Amino acid sequence: MSSTAEPIQPTPYIVTQNQAAGASAPSPNSDFEVAARGLIAVPDVPVIVSHTDPSKVVWDLTAYEFLAGAEWNEAPACANPLLWRQGQLAAQAGLFQVISGGGRTIYQVRGYDLSNMTILNGDHGLIVIDPLASYETAKAALALYRGATKDRTPISTLIYTHSHVDHFGGARGLFAELNDQVPTTLKVYAPTGFLEHAISENVYAGPAMARRAEYMYAAALGKGSDGQIGTGLGQTISTGEVTLIAPTDNIGDGPATPQKEWNSSYVIPWRDGLYARTVDGVPMVFQLTPGTEAPAEMNFYFPEPRALCMAENATHNLHNILSIRGAQVRDAHVWSTYLTEAIQAFAPYSDVEFASHHWSDMLKEAFWAPPATTEYGRVIALDDVIGTKVRALESLGRRHARFEFSLPDLRDRLAGADWLADDAFAAYELGPDQIQELRTWAVAWVTDLNARLHADEDFDFDGE
Ligand SMILES: [Zn+2]
Repeated sequence: MSSTAEPIQPTPYIVTQNQAAGASAPSPNSDFEVAARGLIAVPDVPVIVSHTDPSKVVWDLTAYEFLAGAEWNEAPACANPLLWRQGQLAAQAGLFQVISGGGRTIYQVRGYDLSNMTILNGDHGLIVIDPLASYETAKAALALYRGATKDRTPISTLIYTHSHVDHFGGARGLFAELNDQVPTTLKVYAPTGFLEHAISENVYAGPAMARRAEYMYAAALGKGSDGQIGTGLGQTISTGEVTLIAPTDNIGDGPATPQKEWNSSYVIPWRDGLYARTVDGVPMVFQLTPGTEAPAEMNFYFPEPRALCMAENATHNLHNILSIRGAQVRDAHVWSTYLTEAIQAFAPYSDVEFASHHWSDMLKEAFWAPPATTEYGRVIALDDVIGTKVRALESLGRRHARFEFSLPDLRDRLAGADWLADDAFAAYELGPDQIQELRTWAVAWVTDLNARLHADEDFDFDGE
């Protein structure tokens, strides 16, 4: 159902409200740079059409080009400037490399639907996380990945982060390349309760929710600076065929992993309630987060590339609690509790965080700060970092840091030393031996900081 109505001019009240919202817009900052990072292939088709009716466009990759050419702070009077800016960020479409490390490379296809599709290499096949909202967009997203990487490896595993349709609806589209035959060996992981909630929200309540979603996402409205400019979470939702492949393994049906079964390959320390699993050869640690953004949802950590998937629990917007389309109301308190737990359990051991919407965040960003010149010479970030006793340094940092000083931040910056290219150290005129020594020293300090932070020690900075 397309709207044929002409746009009307906004009322003075709307214009005033939009201007007020614009006053709180963040400056361009690094969001645009971060959102573009890792792009390795742009969309290779202008539109994605229905696989049952090729005259019907289910996703238009050119619809938001009007945003790309505009300035972030020059929203038209009828648009909320924050949504305008968010639209420019979220409209960036293509294949992105999120991180490569520990023998695994994580990719995301973004801008092919409301949500992201994530792909990484398992031991025997590809692991696909959240195959978008419809058959056609998932098929096209996989084709983009295959075309750009020349990787023909079959899919061994699907993981659904949660029970919302934009995270499972395209499942069967991934097997279009096999004439829609889903391999009997396919493993499908989901949080416990997934199927029950996927069906109750999208089948029983489906027609009512789909209708209200029309108003929430305005998928049928014309795209343009005086039309639909995005939903904040992504641009809009695709309108292809919704499919589902039922899970074969529910995370959380059994007991959490006991401490005695924990091993060093999981990298993070054991905590009660985490589920360590090996998924097609890839170690993963799952945190169930029921009753948050969805009734069945989970975050998970990849020890090998030190990457954290936050499902839809932490994206680049403040998520709604009461959804207009009628999804189950979210419990903000429960949600915040699980976020805190995720930060404590995973963040110190993660180099990158990604989610099933929006762009990914490098958590070691601070370490890339240019060297500062001090009376002691050029230093990494905090003043006087190199060559002084560790505890004394922390004390100095606390007294003299230009920013609020925190031990977790310091630990994260130091952990980045292991990850930084030699060239970055060479900029400080260090030779190979010195670089190695510096890395070893940083790792030792990180280990020390981790042990003390983990023990929740009450530091007395001046008492050492
Ligand atoms: Zn979603």
